[in-house]
Amino acid sequence: MSRSRPVSAKKDTYHILTYGCQMNERDTESLAGFLQQMGYTASTPEEAGVLLINTCCVRESAERKILGKLGELRKYKLARPEVVIGIGGCMVQQPGMSERIRKEYPYVDIVFGTHNLHQLPRMIEQCQFGQVVEVWDSEGEVVEDLPERKAEGIKAHVTIMYGCNNFCSYCIVPHVRGRERSRAPEDVVREVQSLVAQGVKEVTVLGQNVNSYGKDLNPRVSFADLLRTVNGVEGLKRIRFTTSHPKDFDLALIAAMSESDKVCEHIHLPVQAGSNRILAAMNRGYSREQYMEMIGQIRQAMPEVALTTDLIVGFPGETEEDFADTLDLLEKVRYDNAFTFLYSKRSGTPAAELAEQVDAETKKARFQRLLQLQNRISLEHNKALIGSVQEVLVEGRSKTNKELMTGRTRGNKIVVFAGAEQQVGETVLVRIDEARTWTLLGTMALL
Ligand code: SAM
Ligand code: SF4
Repeated sequence: MSRSRPVSAKKDTYHILTYGCQMNERDTESLAGFLQQMGYTASTPEEAGVLLINTCCVRESAERKILGKLGELRKYKLARPEVVIGIGGCMVQQPGMSERIRKEYPYVDIVFGTHNLHQLPRMIEQCQFGQVVEVWDSEGEVVEDLPERKAEGIKAHVTIMYGCNNFCSYCIVPHVRGRERSRAPEDVVREVQSLVAQGVKEVTVLGQNVNSYGKDLNPRVSFADLLRTVNGVEGLKRIRFTTSHPKDFDLALIAAMSESDKVCEHIHLPVQAGSNRILAAMNRGYSREQYMEMIGQIRQAMPEVALTTDLIVGFPGETEEDFADTLDLLEKVRYDNAFTFLYSKRSGTPAAELAEQVDAETKKARFQRLLQLQNRISLEHNKALIGSVQEVLVEGRSKTNKELMTGRTRGNKIVVFAGAEQQVGETVLVRIDEARTWTLLGTMALL
């Protein structure tokens, strides 16, 4: 395939496929911003002059899907040899992956990692002279001169730190995202102010472990301090944050939450497992008892708080007894919601080397039991809200019924109600009439 061709001016359009977490979605916004600065506009995959995949590798299923998709993109290259195909992000950052892509998918023009996505414009220019494969081994400095963000809608994610220092034994993230690096608070605040000026009402601040925010800054700044500062941004209505690591969660954060009226009463506190044996094997850095104690303290300080979690089913060596401990923890904590994952073996992580991998059938059966239990608890929580009046930030029309409006409570629950388009971005009071597992239905209440 000839590689020597100009990037046609008529092809100044792009399409980006994104896999994975909010962090990746945020990276995609930056990639799109770079392309827009170069004069590209968004388009469909069929027409785009630049086609990018921003990848994830937290679970093997994501990786399989992405490689399948990369294979599919070949048809665009065959139909339009001038199209630029690029792949970047977490999956590519794994050892040996860029080499594999280069060999097995030779029609790919650009391969980049998680640490050098800001170099996309140069790579696009350069790839007309041949394939560009650049994956940095280490993270480098935090890059602040990213394209000015364009807000879409009333909610936005703001990354406050990159990387992770925790090395949970199952997790690939620290291997592909590098060590923790915090953004300076003034840069975070500037970004929030710019989003608010464009109509954003709610920001979710993002990090793999927001509780260790600022430990690498000089002078040090705590996450609690950052929340207080962001709370001062005029025009902003709500602040959320994710993810908190239980081993670093402290009462100072609860105090900051109580003092900061914009910070919503919702904490996502991934427990991953309910058995001490498994928690130790996962290298999570806390015991079941310590976790339960913290939940008690949180609930004492904020009785109305909504709690959610992440759980992994079928970690190597998980016995029926260990799994029963997880079910028991769920019954005791009674989360509002939980994200449940089947353990996925990630090469390069210590857990992948453990001999006693749980068979797929057992994993799936446990997963179903966990889901059933959590669904029952979620529904019970929602039913308990019937008759209450909730503050709802209106997001737009309901996806399932365009006649109705939808928004979220401070506890992050979806509410559907009869309202008006002009209310988007406003907070309204809604009386809850009906509860389902994932949604609340209500009627607007008068002040
Ligand atoms: N940093 C966050 C934390 O520690 O809670 C979460 C980041 S991770 C991208 C999101 C979730 O994916 C984790 O909480 C965990 O439940 C799940 N996860 C990570 N590695 C996994 C693996 N190898 N198999 C299954 N689930 C995994
Ligand atoms: Fe992965 Fe653990 Fe870091 Fe979360 S804290 S990103 S699960 S290593």
